[in-house]
Amino acid sequence: MATETTRRKGIMDWYFRSNLLARILIGLALGALAGIVLGFFPEAIKPYVDNVKFFGDLFIRLLKMIVVPVILFSLIAGAASIAPSRLGRVGVKIMAYYLLTSALAVVIGLVFANILKPGLGMNIVGDAAVKGQAAAAPTLAQIFLNIIPTNPMDSLAKGDVLPVIFFACVFGIAISFVKDSKTPALAQGASTLFEVCNAAAETMYKIVSGIMQYAPIGVFVLISIVFAQQGAKAIGPLLVVTLTVYLGLLVHLVGSYGGLLAVFGLGVGTFFKRANEAMITAFVTRSSNGTLPVTMRVSEENLGIPRTISSFTLPLGATINMDGTAIYLGVCAMFIGYATGNPLTFNQQVTVVITATLASIGTAGVPGAGAIMLLMVLDSIGVKVTEGSAVAAAYAMILGIDALLDMGRTCLNVSGDMIGTAIVAKTEKELDLAKWGKARA
Ligand code: ASP
Repeated sequence: MATETTRRKGIMDWYFRSNLLARILIGLALGALAGIVLGFFPEAIKPYVDNVKFFGDLFIRLLKMIVVPVILFSLIAGAASIAPSRLGRVGVKIMAYYLLTSALAVVIGLVFANILKPGLGMNIVGDAAVKGQAAAAPTLAQIFLNIIPTNPMDSLAKGDVLPVIFFACVFGIAISFVKDSKTPALAQGASTLFEVCNAAAETMYKIVSGIMQYAPIGVFVLISIVFAQQGAKAIGPLLVVTLTVYLGLLVHLVGSYGGLLAVFGLGVGTFFKRANEAMITAFVTRSSNGTLPVTMRVSEENLGIPRTISSFTLPLGATINMDGTAIYLGVCAMFIGYATGNPLTFNQQVTVVITATLASIGTAGVPGAGAIMLLMVLDSIGVKVTEGSAVAAAYAMILGIDALLDMGRTCLNVSGDMIGTAIVAKTEKELDLAKWGKARA
């Protein structure tokens, strides 16, 4: 203890002593303010971005560095300490939750778009620089096959989350069998392997805590850049789209998630209080994958979810559960319809519910991925983004403010993963209720 105090003494003492969340929130507020002010001096934006970009990228890289090791070690340790049948039950529950909430999210997005009608009266005509693209959807068989790595090391190196999840699960389950081996040396070896993976996971969480000390600076820089570059554009004709998307996100967060949590005797307020570090990180990094190390640490340490469940459901959620993206896809498809003078028919909207749910599952947890999936959704309702068309012009407008929309949708994506995981843990009687301000079950 004494050494730690000595180590932290110095000019940065005040920094490490102050509350981390307060520092992150100050970074967020000051960053937004700096970005808005910079927006009034367009000629200053590029030099500013060139000079400070490094400090934002540093934060994102530090988080990305830890993603694959966190998933691998926590999942091996998690899978090794849970019975395979239980893992299967958790899998079914979380998949049901992920699918249903995503479909509900698209519906919420569509409802608000029908009420607020973003893009109505814009009468966009063709003349855009966006090239027509056909988004080819992979077949269902291919999607399943791609989950199984042909070479686990290759998947680890590339950071392909689903194959890593698959391999780590299988490896962890196999460890639990070898632990029960009748050969003492093997049983002992497997136990050691389990302990090593567990300790490695713990070590990764320690690293995440260290990285988060840098978060306030990273947050400030990342937010200021987005607001400086896109703030002004979102206030213009795209204000209604931005409002519709954010309203949808808010209603899903407070209404759907709040309701679901209440059904299971948990409070959404407590969730906000305890999970905000992950929510803010998602907001500024715009990446569910990049936020994963923070999501996993927060879930375990603040939300009281055991690693046996979260190590499996959270990486899965960061890859396939994108409720924010689902809302965004619904609203933007509607915007493009209204803006080009072809509002979507009821049948088209029903199709959007299906394709946007599937597209959100296929969306990678990286910045801007949702905007690419929007092409697939549009394609499914016969709206083609061809070069120079009005649709391409409307799509280009959306791309212009994508970072702003991406912040909100990623925050919801990550929140949805944590809430689903908490609910599943509660149904499995594995949630530490003390963290939720309740007496232990
Ligand atoms: N950026 C989002 C995420 O990482 C995906 C998207 O672009 O919608 O969750």
